[in-house]
Amino acid sequence: MARMRPDALAVARAAKGFMPHDEGLALHELGRAAARIGPLLEIGSYCGKSAVYLGTAAQEADTVLFTIDHHHGSTENQAGWEHHDPEVVDPRTGRMDTLPFLRRTIEDAALEEAVIAIVGDSPTVAGHWSTSVGLLFIDGGHALDVAMADYEAWSGFVAPGGVLAIHDVFEDPALGGQAPFLVWQRAVADGFSPVQVVGSLRALRR
Ligand code: SAH
Ligand code: MG
Repeated sequence: MARMRPDALAVARAAKGFMPHDEGLALHELGRAAARIGPLLEIGSYCGKSAVYLGTAAQEADTVLFTIDHHHGSTENQAGWEHHDPEVVDPRTGRMDTLPFLRRTIEDAALEEAVIAIVGDSPTVAGHWSTSVGLLFIDGGHALDVAMADYEAWSGFVAPGGVLAIHDVFEDPALGGQAPFLVWQRAVADGFSPVQVVGSLRALRR
């Protein structure tokens, strides 16, 4: 299945982040196909782990991945929460800053021409956006209001035939937070067709 460059694969596996390898490979495959329709767009860059899987797909298809993050972390990434990593805290401010990690990951994977980082608040960026995309990957904040705001702001930019991918979808509340699942249900209600499930990754087609 995976035809990803081995050097990029190694960078993806080594990068800090929250993307299991099998789900990353599935993202790469989805990205390869969707890149024929338009550029790829990710919400939630963090340190660039998923951006390597998607960015390699964009590079292979001669298009780009836009990856959006304010780089100060979601609620669930802050100190005291489950997904906190003290190494990504800026000692100068005490706040999280994952942007330097993203830059290094993209540089190490030789993806600087294919991956375009956009640093800012996702719905704010969407408010000034107008380009339709071949694939939209929603993996930003997982609080319900934040995840739903991402969906509402960005889902309209998925081109006909394009892909909407949602991460961390857990139907069973015992396995994880419900916001991404509620977003997935909303997407189905809005007419997106489910096409693939790999772990907690769900893909739908517009
Ligand atoms: N895709 C990453 C994980 C993303 S974690 C991986 O493969 O490892 C979720 C990210 O969403 C965090 O880095 C956080 O800063 C970002 N985020 C949360 N809310 C956001 C918002 N409103 N705008 C931009 N980024 C946001
Ligand atoms: Mg995730």
